[in-house]
Amino acid sequence: EVAVLRYGHRPGRDDRMTTHVGLTARALGADRVILPDNATQARETVADITDRFGGPFTVEQTDELDATVDRWAGAVVHLTMYGERIQDVESEVRERHRSDPLLVVVGGEKVPFEVYEAADWNVAVTNQPHSEVAGLSVFLDRLFEGRELAQEWPDAERRVLPQANGKRVVDGDEATDGS
Ligand code: SAM
Repeated sequence: EVAVLRYGHRPGRDDRMTTHVGLTARALGADRVILPDNATQARETVADITDRFGGPFTVEQTDELDATVDRWAGAVVHLTMYGERIQDVESEVRERHRSDPLLVVVGGEKVPFEVYEAADWNVAVTNQPHSEVAGLSVFLDRLFEGRELAQEWPDAERRVLPQANGKRVVDGDEATDGS
């Protein structure tokens, strides 16, 4: 199992970024996202997209961010520009994930030092400042070694058919082989 925890959210200002943490977690192979309890708008958008474009994927909210980290029965990865280089630790993390559920923590504003201490790995996707969505994307792609790109969405209401040009969207259960 892979769960993504969005640690911190400023309503209004962070709505779009928190929504994109959830959508990116879903699209790139995580099983669920846990959002702070003040991120209800983001939760609703992610749940709505999951209803239309399929799962399995779960979106949850918690008022106990620290307890979610502390009580996690598995390994904790905290994504931070100050961490160890992803290319140096990715194989260890993959190895651990073979047996243990993984909690991937991404910050918003400042993340308290307790999270750095509670993490099994503090992981940097470059030691340059960028964004939680970018960090999460590269991390999940390295974790799954690209397999997430071929994921199926069995219960989708809608499905996008890849096109060289233009847009094609069909019902989830519609045949696409021309029959
Ligand atoms: N300045 C904040 C701090 O010192 O905690 C970080 C703000 S940053 C906009 C928000 C989140 O993006 C971070 O908590 C981290 O999860 C993620 N992030 C930003 N740059 C990253 C990097 N180079 N590698 C991994 N994660 C990164």
